[in-house]
Amino acid sequence: MSQSDALFEAAQRLIPGGVNSPVRAFRAVGGKPFFVARAEGARIWDVDGRSYLDFLGSWGPLILGHAPAAVVEAVSEAARRGTSYGAPTASEVEIAEVISRALPSIEMLRLVSSGTEAAMSAIRLARGATGRDAIVKFEGCYHGHADSLLVKAGSGGATFSLPDSAGVPPSLAALTVTLPFNDLEAVRRTFDARGSEIAAVIVEPVAGNMGVVPPAPGFLGGLRELTTRHGALLIFDEVITGFRVAYGGAQSLYGVRPDLTCLGKIIGGGLPVGAYGGRRDLMTHVSPLGGVYQAGTLSGNPLAVAAGLATLRALQDPSAYRRLEALGARLQAGLEGAAREAGVPLTVNRVGSMLTGFFTGGAVTDFASAKPSDTARYAKFFHAMLARGVFLAASQFEAAFVSLAHSEADIDSAAQAARQALGAA
Ligand SMILES: *Cc1c(COP(=O)(O)O)cnc(C)c1O
Repeated sequence: MSQSDALFEAAQRLIPGGVNSPVRAFRAVGGKPFFVARAEGARIWDVDGRSYLDFLGSWGPLILGHAPAAVVEAVSEAARRGTSYGAPTASEVEIAEVISRALPSIEMLRLVSSGTEAAMSAIRLARGATGRDAIVKFEGCYHGHADSLLVKAGSGGATFSLPDSAGVPPSLAALTVTLPFNDLEAVRRTFDARGSEIAAVIVEPVAGNMGVVPPAPGFLGGLRELTTRHGALLIFDEVITGFRVAYGGAQSLYGVRPDLTCLGKIIGGGLPVGAYGGRRDLMTHVSPLGGVYQAGTLSGNPLAVAAGLATLRALQDPSAYRRLEALGARLQAGLEGAAREAGVPLTVNRVGSMLTGFFTGGAVTDFASAKPSDTARYAKFFHAMLARGVFLAASQFEAAFVSLAHSEADIDSAAQAARQALGAA
């Protein structure tokens, strides 16, 4: 038995599904996960000594690749000065300045420890500041696992929202209206019907959690206009897209200024960090200035902030996003070429260094058009790529991430693996 299989057996006795986050269990693609020994640059080694070119990037944070020297040094240096104080530090002020400069819509912000906390807290703030209870989200968008956000539309659509998870009270889910992504008309109808009840619209400005789905032209601007007109807040969940699709996030790429923004992933440089922030008049509702309570023992943790600052500094290199774009485009072309040669229908959606190849012939513009993708074919592809030493997300409906640690040769060898995996070579 391999070391990974032995560890997975032991893990399953102690940890639900053997993993500390569900997708890691490979349930959507079958088979068993490998256990990681170490990682460096664009590569991961498992406990059995096999190595993989990594296009998961820890689900998004690792835009510099694994264990970049600057981050490792910053974390080690911070650790020597203590790992947590429960009192403020200069680094927290510095990262707040860096983030606020990069995303000018963020006039004030609060650091938390995960994207889930960021989105949950932004929703609480939106409700507290507007005195309204209902929120609007989009089908296929993920905002972490807080109760109000684990909801998608049931057969009743916008009127009867059903929880996605056991343990979420239907009475709470009923306050979450779920609409199709990119469907501005549905948002308009919802606001016409119950605009005065809606505290906020929360959206991934580029969806990443149904696979990558870019916003249709005018969608984000339309949300801005409708929320403003009806006195609701616009929340961009940029936990993936912040510092990923551009240094200033999707809001700079598409030129739309949200009221509140959620961040996570990249701003922690691979350590647990999230943040929410936005308009000063809204953020002053947050405790201790106002009545919206939110706190955290390890919020602004010095190790995590050091990793985040080192990462954000590296991204200030003016060539960083040009390189990420070029590498992303190269991977897209490689995948499209492999699929074309193999005669396999594949729709690749990409924004910069995040992309998804959907096994479907049609355009993917929302969850309904993503869903018909051939998930059995994806599972086969996933395992064929893994066998060739390329690690992708263990589900069709996730993004692949390219990092600054990937070389052109890495991209080309992944494309060559895809040609073999799809049977074109
Ligand atoms: C990952 C993610 C979250 C949740 O972040 P965690 O750190 O996993 O809690 C929230 N929103 C989006 C868009 C994400 O991709």
